[in-house]
Amino acid sequence: MPKTMHAAVVTAFGKPLELQECAVHLPGPGQILVKTEACGVCHTDLHAAKGDWPLKPTPPFIPGHEAIGIVVALGAGVTIVKEGDRVGVPWLYSACGHCEYCLSAWETVCAEAKFGGYTQNGGFAEYVLADPNYVAHIPKELNPAEAAPLICAGITTYKGIKETEARPGEWIAISGCGGLGHLAIQYAKVMGLHVCAVDIDDGKLAHATRLGADMVINARAQNPGEVLKKAIGGGAHGVLITAPSLPAFKQGIEMTRKRGTCALVGLPPGEFPTPLFDIVANCITIRGSFVGTRIDMAECLQFAAEGKVKADIELQPLASINTIFERLEHGDVPSRVVLDFTDTKSDKIADEARAAKPAVPVHA
Ligand code: NAD
Ligand code: ZN
Ligand code: ZN
Repeated sequence: MPKTMHAAVVTAFGKPLELQECAVHLPGPGQILVKTEACGVCHTDLHAAKGDWPLKPTPPFIPGHEAIGIVVALGAGVTIVKEGDRVGVPWLYSACGHCEYCLSAWETVCAEAKFGGYTQNGGFAEYVLADPNYVAHIPKELNPAEAAPLICAGITTYKGIKETEARPGEWIAISGCGGLGHLAIQYAKVMGLHVCAVDIDDGKLAHATRLGADMVINARAQNPGEVLKKAIGGGAHGVLITAPSLPAFKQGIEMTRKRGTCALVGLPPGEFPTPLFDIVANCITIRGSFVGTRIDMAECLQFAAEGKVKADIELQPLASINTIFERLEHGDVPSRVVLDFTDTKSDKIADEARAAKPAVPVHA
């Protein structure tokens, strides 16, 4: 095992990430060490690096919660995975396993939950420590880069669609057609729903149509609630808001059918106004939805293993992380960027960056 690794580190909120040489920590009891093959870049990583949310990570930390890799070392007592297994290290890094939420398969809201790339160092690194009880088990049909977006963007939208309680033959509106949204459209189609895709970018909407959306609305040019209600006679039975933008939330409620459910998934910092009369008089449910549980993970990966859902990915080296963040911030990533750790070119660039800076320790 090498003693050090390349990693992209948040050293202070709002600052560019630093490419550093960090220590590779051997797994302690109950832990495993994973050699990263690929890691998706989620908009959440950007929120993390900016310190956008009330619960903040502590710099220095390594973001990344869509890491896929091979188990290369086992800590004492680990039996559930073995060396050589391909696993994913997700946002739900670990939970207590015995609270009322863990016992009822709601481990995502466990008060002791730890978050990958947030409270724990994540996958923007050549090696990552993980809790074997919470890793994703990657089906053999999937390669690491195409599996990466599924373990956050995939599971989150698959679960979020279920949380809308929309049934086959009904309509779902999906607001935001980026990393999360492009997978949401595919899961919704496989689940037998009619899909209205909403974004502010015509390129994303053209892609949404290619992925099977039955109708699209550009929220910058038209009022999504009005257009949808006119087109289908009432709003959508389910609405899934993935857009990291506050105006999308008000529009989401306006797109919801009477007795329908609007599931909130996007996490821009802030609050949005809730039109009480409309929500009460139309018996609308507003529901938060946070990633998914381990059983949701297995289910969402299985759809992809069967070829029914496929992430659209752009491979990039770790060294381009700051350019990727800038593009993500400006809506310039078509679907999902995945960091490719099998790209030796990226090692060379990172080596050069490393040579220019002294090694700085990062907490485990
Ligand atoms: P992304 O940047 O890849 O995609 C966002 C999309 O929203 C883009 O296509 C953009 O054009 C579109 N958009 C922006 N403003 C819009 C508006 N007003 N109306 C409609 N569309 C709009 O981001 P992503 O990786 O898909 O993440 C999206 C959000 O979901 C982030 O806030 C992220 O933190 C959050 N997230 C939440 C969970 C969860 O568990 N709830 C999990 C993962 C990500
Ligand atoms: Zn994510
Ligand atoms: Zn718990």
